[in-house]
Amino acid sequence: MAKVKLENVTKRFPGGSVAVDSINLEIENREFLVLVGPSGCGKSTTLRLIAGLETGTQGDVIIADRVVTNVAPRDRDIAMVFQNYALYPHMSVYRNMSFGLMLRHFGGLLGDGVIGRGLRKIFQPRKAANDGRIISEIDEKVRQTAGRLGIEHLLDRKPHQLSGGERQRVALGRAIVRNPAAFLFDEPLSNLDAKLRQQLRIELKRLHRELNATMIYVTHDQVEAMTLGSRVAVMNEGKILQVGPPLEIYRQPSSLFVAKFIGSLPINLCQGKLVRIENGFRFEGDFSMDWQTEGGFENWPSKQPVTLGIRPEDIRLTETGPLKGKVSDLEQLGESTTIHCELVGSNDESIKSGADSNLVVRVDSDRIFRVGQIVHLELDQNRVIWFDPGTGKNILKE
Ligand code: ATP
Repeated sequence: MAKVKLENVTKRFPGGSVAVDSINLEIENREFLVLVGPSGCGKSTTLRLIAGLETGTQGDVIIADRVVTNVAPRDRDIAMVFQNYALYPHMSVYRNMSFGLMLRHFGGLLGDGVIGRGLRKIFQPRKAANDGRIISEIDEKVRQTAGRLGIEHLLDRKPHQLSGGERQRVALGRAIVRNPAAFLFDEPLSNLDAKLRQQLRIELKRLHRELNATMIYVTHDQVEAMTLGSRVAVMNEGKILQVGPPLEIYRQPSSLFVAKFIGSLPINLCQGKLVRIENGFRFEGDFSMDWQTEGGFENWPSKQPVTLGIRPEDIRLTETGPLKGKVSDLEQLGESTTIHCELVGSNDESIKSGADSNLVVRVDSDRIFRVGQIVHLELDQNRVIWFDPGTGKNILKE
């Protein structure tokens, strides 16, 4: 397994669109790195540049300390798993899984690339003892991998006789038998239903542990990114905005974009300014609230606008909390309930009259609320994230 490095990699497609913009990224040996971002941000192009399926406009791709920028995909020692499985429809599962290895060892037999004719030759019993040994090694690898993925009973079937989840396992199996330096996954689970996706996510994590492999995984689904990655790289408009462990990205996003993109419920954002008070500061805006700490704002100009961010689970609904809200909507999800609260100005000086701020709060599902109910809200002050509304940057993150 190997370290993968991108040095200043740019891809400009004909016509001028820059899909990947000067990316620098180091994926450690045996790491599971997830590239996540909205549609069109350049994730797949980045992966294809690593695989060698696209040629970069500038920069270098380095795999296992070898510059492979001008090396053909088949010589990069990587295996790629796609969303659409890309299985050979006319071959059995067994052949789909063994084909790459057979090709590597007996490629010469394929003649002019006429796969059908070549395969007939390959699968004929061969006399040479060495060939026999290789064939039985390949056979063992295929059967062992099929066992690991729970598809050993499907080896004789063709892809059209498989479910989506089974096909994706075959595609995974085909990559695993090759024992590559790195695995590249391009949205491999997005054709599957939610339950199967969750099951395969767990299997992928287990495989990663067992194979001790370097894995790079592309998705637009932030839940996949959070649950799979040992590190997550958030991309937008061809650039990597932040790289870090999932929880760090969630708790300390470097920008408003990252804060909004990560999180299954959107982060609450309120506009205001910071005013210095004795022993601390006050947020004055959609509502007002005091912090009894300097909190890193020693150098922040008083009264300069800020955006306050708070995640829905970091707001508590209490009997006497400092903010008052009216329940405007409820979503009961079973494991929790999402409450949409309109901050109400009347009878509460902390809330600016006419404030149009809504706060979304996540509460235990056994607490019963109704639309129209007046509730009190308390923010976990340590969990508030501060952004500069001008630059969109997290003010307290260097
Ligand atoms: P998605 O999640 O929708 O697959 P993505 O983040 O993987 O998106 P890419 O497929 O890498 O995005 O595309 C990045 C940008 O490059 C997009 O604006 C896309 O339109 C453009 N692009 C991709 N392939 C080509 C191409 N062959 N020719 C021209 N532009 C392209």
